[in-house]
Amino acid sequence: MIRQIRREDVHRICSGQVVLSLSVALKEIVENGLDAGAKTITIKAKDYGLDYIEVADDGSGIEDSNFASLAKKHHTSKIAQFEDLETVGTFGFRGEALSSLCAVSELTVTTSTSSSGAGHDLHYDADGELAAKKPCARERGTTVKIANLFHSLPVRLTELRKHKKREFAKLVSMLQGYCMVRPDVQFSLTHIQGNSARRLVLKTRGGDASVLDVATALFGSKTVQFAIVLTKTLTEIKTVDGPLPGLKVSGYVSKPMQTLGRSSPDRQFFFINQRPCEFAKLSRAVNEAYRAYNKNQYPFVVAHLHMPQQEVDVNVTPDKRTLFFHKEQALLETTKLCITETIKAFEGTMLLKTGA
Ligand code: ADP
Ligand code: MG
Repeated sequence: MIRQIRREDVHRICSGQVVLSLSVALKEIVENGLDAGAKTITIKAKDYGLDYIEVADDGSGIEDSNFASLAKKHHTSKIAQFEDLETVGTFGFRGEALSSLCAVSELTVTTSTSSSGAGHDLHYDADGELAAKKPCARERGTTVKIANLFHSLPVRLTELRKHKKREFAKLVSMLQGYCMVRPDVQFSLTHIQGNSARRLVLKTRGGDASVLDVATALFGSKTVQFAIVLTKTLTEIKTVDGPLPGLKVSGYVSKPMQTLGRSSPDRQFFFINQRPCEFAKLSRAVNEAYRAYNKNQYPFVVAHLHMPQQEVDVNVTPDKRTLFFHKEQALLETTKLCITETIKAFEGTMLLKTGA
C-alpha cells in the first residue's frame, strides 16, 4: 500500500540533506550573518560543536514582523522568484537553512534591529514554528545558537561523536575560506571544553586587513618572521586571456622553490564570484600547472574567479558548495593558464636577478 509520509518525517528526512554536517550547519549561519551585512562574526563552540554552536553577528538584525516566518521552510528575504537566481548576490536564497536546522537541532535566535530598541529571544520548535518569545538586551545584530545538533538523526549523531575532532577540523577550514574572502570582517572562533577551558582557535582583524594579513593571521603562527616569509612567498595571480573570455582570476599563489613550512593540499581556497566552493577539478588544474615548476609541493592558493553570473549555477547541491558551469573545461584551462603565466613571470624575474 502506498502511503504518504508524515509531514514532520518528510521535514526531518529533507533537513538531513541540507544540514549534512557540523561544518555545513555553521556555514549556513555564518552566511546569514554576512548576508545581513555583519562586520563582526563571533563564534563559540562547546565540545567541538556537539554541545552547541553560537554565532553572534552585528548585522541588520531581524524585524519583529519576520519572527514568525524566520524558520519556516522556503521563507526567504533574498529572492522572490526563480529568475532572481541568475543575479543572486547573497549566499542564501532558498530559505531552507534555519528551517532545516530546527529539524536537526534546537534553535534559539536573539536579535535586535537599530529601530527596535531592545532585543528579543526567540525559540523555534522542530517544525520551525516560533514557540517562545521574550524581550532581552541586545545590541543591533543577531545571535543564532544551535544546540544538540543531530539529536533527531541518531546515526548521524553517532558518527559525529565518533569523529568530532575531524569534523571540527573541517569546520575550521571551511571558516578559513570565509575569512579569506571577507578580510573586512572580523571573525573569531573560540572552543569551549568542559565548564571553563577556552581556546581561541582563530581570529582575524577585519577592517582594512588585506588577504595577506588574513593568511598570516590564520597560518602564519605567532612569529613575525613567518609573516615576512609568507608575504615574500606569495605572488599575485595574473589574468591572461584563455579559452573562456571574460573570466578574471585574481588572488595569490605560492612561488615554487620556497617552502611554506608544510606542503599539503589543504591550504587551497577557491572562490567563484565571491562564493567559497569545493572544486576538486580546479584544484587539480592548479596543481598541474605548479608541478611543472615544483614536483614536491602543493601550492598555497587563494584564487578568486570572476565570471558573468549566467555562467554559473549555484543551485546544484543542497549545501551550495558544488557549482555547475556552462563551460567547465574552458574555465579549467583558462585558470591553469593564468597560474602558469604567473609562475613563469616570477621565474623570469628570478632568472634576471641571478643573472642566469
Ligand atoms: P536564506 O538565507 O536562504 O534566505 P535561511 O533559512 O538561512 O534562508 O534564513 C531565512 C531568513 O532569515 C533570511 O532570508 C533572512 O531574512 C533571515 N535571517 C537569518 N539569519 C539572519 C541573520 N543573522 N541576520 C539577519 N537576518 C537573518
Ligand atoms: Mg541562509
